Amino acid sequence: MGKVIGIDLGTTNSCVSVVELSEPVIIPNAEGGRTTPSVIAFTKDGELLVGDHARRQSAMNPRRTMASIKRHMGTDFRFAPDGMSLSPQEVSAMILRKLKKDAENYLGSAVDKAVITVPAYFNDAQRQATKDAGRIAGLEVLRIINEPTSAALAYGLDHGHPQKVLVYDLGGGTFDVSLIEMGEGLIEVLATAGDNRLGGDDFDERLTSYVIEEYKKTNHINLAKDPTAVQRIKEACETAKKELSTAMTASINLPFIATVKGEPIHIYMDITRAKFEELTSDLLNRTREPVLDVLRDAKIKGSELDKVLLVGGSTRMAAVQKLVKNLTGIEPSRNINPDECVAMGAAVQGAKLGGEMISGAGSDIILMDVTPLTLSIETVGGIATKIVERNSTIPARYTQIFSTAMPYQTTVEIKVLQGERQFARDNTLLGTFRLTGIRRAMAGVPQIEVTFDIDANGILNVSAKDLGTGRQNSIVIVSGSKMSDDEIKRAMDDAAFYADDDNARKKRFDAINNAKRKIAQAQLYIQEHKQDLDKEKKRGLKSASAAVEKSIRWKKADKLTEGELDEIIRKTQELDALLGDAAGTDDRI
Ligand code: AMP
Repeated sequence: MGKVIGIDLGTTNSCVSVVELSEPVIIPNAEGGRTTPSVIAFTKDGELLVGDHARRQSAMNPRRTMASIKRHMGTDFRFAPDGMSLSPQEVSAMILRKLKKDAENYLGSAVDKAVITVPAYFNDAQRQATKDAGRIAGLEVLRIINEPTSAALAYGLDHGHPQKVLVYDLGGGTFDVSLIEMGEGLIEVLATAGDNRLGGDDFDERLTSYVIEEYKKTNHINLAKDPTAVQRIKEACETAKKELSTAMTASINLPFIATVKGEPIHIYMDITRAKFEELTSDLLNRTREPVLDVLRDAKIKGSELDKVLLVGGSTRMAAVQKLVKNLTGIEPSRNINPDECVAMGAAVQGAKLGGEMISGAGSDIILMDVTPLTLSIETVGGIATKIVERNSTIPARYTQIFSTAMPYQTTVEIKVLQGERQFARDNTLLGTFRLTGIRRAMAGVPQIEVTFDIDANGILNVSAKDLGTGRQNSIVIVSGSKMSDDEIKRAMDDAAFYADDDNARKKRFDAINNAKRKIAQAQLYIQEHKQDLDKEKKRGLKSASAAVEKSIRWKKADKLTEGELDEIIRKTQELDALLGDAAGTDDRI
């Protein structure tokens, strides 16, 4: 087999690597750069530009330029310059084709196989689209792997003792943080979080606005209206930002930036690191919560981490390194270039799949993913009962027993939901199916086993089985997450925003549902123990049931006062105490 290349197909920049003499090396592009801007453009004559050429002319030719196509992967977005209509896969393929060509020039031989990386939270549709982009570019994609996993591979963390690794990835346009666990031949993504609208570009933007504003204050000239000037200022600001990662001061020197009334004007300005950090402190702070979130989700304290890896060019900023150290208490590893390690890890994986020996590398690695949002089913009262919590590792199988809500109910409808909210109607409905032919019985008697089976590609199979009759039905939901990253983020923000409100409402629905459940259980108990139940106990159960029934009669869960809620809970507890062990714990569908 020929060489297998590893590709980091990034939102802002892409990078390609290959293993030579047992070590991954970065393949420079035709322009001499080690990373290639993920930008394509068409000139007005229809010529295709990819990479640096496309990026440089973007401000002057915005309609025919496409940047950050990765944000649209897996959607039906079209890039449509001059009557063309290109899918995200086709645009990505143009970038991949250039990377492939650069690799062929470097290696001096044809390249037709690759490993490509994607963010850990990418869903099945986004992964499939990435694979398709590779195919369009003439590459057989041997495997799609997660970016944080790939970074860990570059650091050789897949052999040696098991360890928990936090990967903080701040690129040009996106921020991702992942917690992964590397064990013997196993890499598991325990949790991921991030902000797909935050990256180095925002830091450039801040500095650019500051420079324009300062210039306006002292010279009363507004350069914001001149796209060519803005583009040059932005480039100078990015350069200054990079310098400030190592120096305490950087200069912005832009002679002949524009002409005003026939006179040339120039910008000469010094920026200190302190000023830059002051201008961007809120941007940096936005990375704080996601780091704490993944630690919380994975139930790990900073002190339990074995390693912290910095990925993405923007982690070169001094303030980022300080923040990450403060948050985790660990000095981040920095011995591999942060903008290159993802591609290098992919090259390592590619070489293994291509049958090459890598120094120290062990057996093939099993890669695991996580579910981006909670999966649940709707139960009585419109409650979303969680089956698979957000950030659960997949492939996996989760099973829970449910029962019927009504006496002699022979059919249940299983509504599969995705989202963090407590009520079904506030989450996304992924699919519905019915289980019929349940044996006629009192409410709460049938045992219905609901199973969520998620395979390695994120494909979800939900089945329901009546354990009494053995009858079952199921549904397959391709692409467990049909939502975009934005939608996922919105769903999570919504859930946090409504959490208090939801809790109060859920408490009221739960109280009424629980009361009904106890009444049904009491009826069932009395019926089943017709022969041996003593009169005293029977009378007690009947009167306690009647009291519960009275407490909920004509009551609407949404409109319960605190006093009514207390009464229902108290009466239900009294009945429950009498029922004792006879009480079951199943949820009702
Ligand atoms: P990536 O997408 O990982 O290649 O990251 C690109 C981002 O990293 C861009 O916003 C760059 O401006 C930024 N970047 C690259 N080098 C540095 C540096 N030395 N200091 C600060 N930011 C940098």
